[in-house]
Amino acid sequence: MITVCKFGGTSLADADSIRRAASIVRSDPDRRYVVVSAPGKRFPGDDKVTDLLLQCQRLSAKKEDFSVPFSALRTRFEEIAQELGTGLSLKDAFDDLYACLRGGASADYAASRGEYFNGLIVSSFLDFPFVDAKDVIRFREDRTPDYGQSVRTLADVLKQYPRAVIPGFYGTKPDGTVCTFSRGGSDVTGSLVAAAAGADLYENWTDVSGLLMADPRVVPDAKSIPVVTYRELRELSYMGATVLHEDAVFPVRTRDIPIRICNTLHPEDPGTRIVADAPAEPGSLTGIAGKKGFSAVFMEKDRMNAEVGFGRKVLSVLEDAGISFEHLPSGIDTLSVLVESAALEGREDVILAAMQQAAQPDRMHLERDLALIAVVGRGMIRSPGSAAKLFTALAKAGINVRMIDQGSSELNMIVSVEDKDYERAIRAVYREFVPA
Ligand code: ASP
Repeated sequence: MITVCKFGGTSLADADSIRRAASIVRSDPDRRYVVVSAPGKRFPGDDKVTDLLLQCQRLSAKKEDFSVPFSALRTRFEEIAQELGTGLSLKDAFDDLYACLRGGASADYAASRGEYFNGLIVSSFLDFPFVDAKDVIRFREDRTPDYGQSVRTLADVLKQYPRAVIPGFYGTKPDGTVCTFSRGGSDVTGSLVAAAAGADLYENWTDVSGLLMADPRVVPDAKSIPVVTYRELRELSYMGATVLHEDAVFPVRTRDIPIRICNTLHPEDPGTRIVADAPAEPGSLTGIAGKKGFSAVFMEKDRMNAEVGFGRKVLSVLEDAGISFEHLPSGIDTLSVLVESAALEGREDVILAAMQQAAQPDRMHLERDLALIAVVGRGMIRSPGSAAKLFTALAKAGINVRMIDQGSSELNMIVSVEDKDYERAIRAVYREFVPA
């Protein structure tokens, strides 16, 4: 069995947390490949190492003094290395970094050093070989990650190492320069390593016990989701539930490698398993997610149903304006288009006038401040009563539903409510599906 473990920044923020992570790795010999993030926040208001590095790079690029964030960085890593007693000296590496920053290092290079240094420290503490991501993770010239090439290169290199520590977040472009994923990208490195190693499991260690059934700021006692399918995860993350970098799913999904989200502070908690397919209780809920900040254009036209091209005319206005629509519920002679309010910002009148001209609806109006709520569950597929439960909950809470959309799968029911009702709606629906 091979398990790839990726530890996030808060799980490696200081010497104590690195010790904790190392004991997790050592407690199971299957945990053979370890992907590390840069040290994250130790307490609220603390700096993430990646942010300090980017701050140094920005100051240096403006020819300003960067000694304050640089010495904060240096002290942080030296303290970690010293407290762990690894005997590792980072002096030369830091002198090098200083010179590179002075010499105009790129933001990608600077940002990548957090993972690089942390990788050296964790590798020395665990006594696992260090495999530098610059030699195994590949990006194209246009900065898009080359998954195929990365997995092939990694697979070749990992064959020589039964165990290794690999820094997350970066790799190289064809010309050898360092390139990073977007923020949080160590998750993607972990996924690529799992794919290349032919792992049986990809463990993503963080500071929460898995993905919660609802945002804990809205539902403080939200339970964690034991099992979620990739498709459900996609629906929930699109709506704002974040636990993994969006791109981390693809490399393992195509190889059917399950992901487990686990908590470094409570390693015994089962956490959440993300799998290709899983049975479910009929009618059961997997999770609720949502977002505020949408606007809807509501349109009516006599005999719209018989008019060929009405929808195309409306959507081509959005296309010309470079705006993507989120939902498009329709009735017989009505159509509504939901878009993110931020995308319309300042252009509402122009866009509405263009739609009027293109599609000639009899009536149209714009509503702002709408929220979308997605109720997701593979248990809802072909299971009568789920929609009744959802709407009963909203009705009992006196919440007016502005729009309903189910898409073509029964996995996800989406309703829109006014922004002001958002939190109450989520709580009401959660309670209906998960009685206290
Ligand atoms: N250190 C990087 C960040 O802060 C990448 C990561 O942690 O995954 O975004």
